[in-house]
Amino acid sequence: MTTYQITTELSTNRKQKTPAEQLGFGKIFTDHMFVMDYEDGKGWHNATITPYAPITLSPAAMVFHYGQAVFEGLKAYMTEDGEVQLFRPDRNFQRLNSSNARLCIPPIDEDFALEALKELLRVDREWVPTAPGTSLYIRPFIIATESYLGVNPAKSYKFMIIMSPVGSYYKEGINPVKILVEQQYVRAVVGGTGEAKTAGNYASSLKGSEIAAQQGYSQTLWLDGKENKYVEEVGSMNIFFKISGKVITPALNGSILPGITRDSMIEVLKSKNIPIEERAIAFEEVVEAAKNGTLEEAFGTGTAAVISPVGELKWLDDVISVNNGQIGEVTQMLYDTLTGIQYGKVADTFGWTVKI
Ligand SMILES: *Cc1c(COP(=O)(O)O)cnc(C)c1O
Repeated sequence: MTTYQITTELSTNRKQKTPAEQLGFGKIFTDHMFVMDYEDGKGWHNATITPYAPITLSPAAMVFHYGQAVFEGLKAYMTEDGEVQLFRPDRNFQRLNSSNARLCIPPIDEDFALEALKELLRVDREWVPTAPGTSLYIRPFIIATESYLGVNPAKSYKFMIIMSPVGSYYKEGINPVKILVEQQYVRAVVGGTGEAKTAGNYASSLKGSEIAAQQGYSQTLWLDGKENKYVEEVGSMNIFFKISGKVITPALNGSILPGITRDSMIEVLKSKNIPIEERAIAFEEVVEAAKNGTLEEAFGTGTAAVISPVGELKWLDDVISVNNGQIGEVTQMLYDTLTGIQYGKVADTFGWTVKI
């Protein structure tokens, strides 16, 4: 690990904390942020923790024009013993570097990034909310800052970490969602940027979400970009089905984002001896299973919600109801196990949690 010095400038103007019930998602930010710069020839330098504030960029900064932007999302949880812990943060910085590689952004030092995050968390420790189900959402990201309109990888970047206290995702209990299977648009294609956590993937997914919302569905189920046949993801989550007692999820094929929650669910299922298969899943197989009564559960996985059970799928003129719109047994078990580990209520036999 390269040793970088972090310069810390503390805020003299601390913000008021918002009550837990008014937190919502991603609207409120803590008092401090982490910033580090990159310049060709100089490498990453200027690691600083400074008061949370707007940044100044040239209108020609390349991120605005050609979209060299990658990000991560993870959470810090307050345990009942008053300790702040992270869930598999090493995986997030590893994935940030995979995204960097795809977008021609120079790699960061993963160990140092985790140390910087821990230091930022110590500075803003009192921002980790304590009410049940709340957490501190962490958003590391990197943008191209060079002022230049030529099309090539930028010569300068900013790596930043901002943090936002977020409310309980399931304040009113876990309610299964209704999903529209998208026919016209695709999220990603093999060879494209689907595997990278990059801003452009989100920009291109908005249209599908808008169409789903107009029809009264809360998210889009994405099929593959080539044959419009195989299941890829649901909204910005990975997807799982339980058919005839077996859990299946699409194999990572190059256009699917390798979710850390996805990987954790697979490990938990294996540890409980529940059959789990990673393979290509034609959506017709799901329709078939629904028709012959063997489709038992469906759910999306991601850091924000952990698990989002699917209660209904609309595909062309077919409306498929899953488990009568109720959360399934395995879905509930996975939710309880993962959140239990994250909040320190269930023994972490996997070694996934990291205390600050
Ligand atoms: C971030 C993300 C996920 C979920 O990843 P986690 O590491 O589980 O939070 C799934 N799909 C897409 C498209 C994503 O951007």
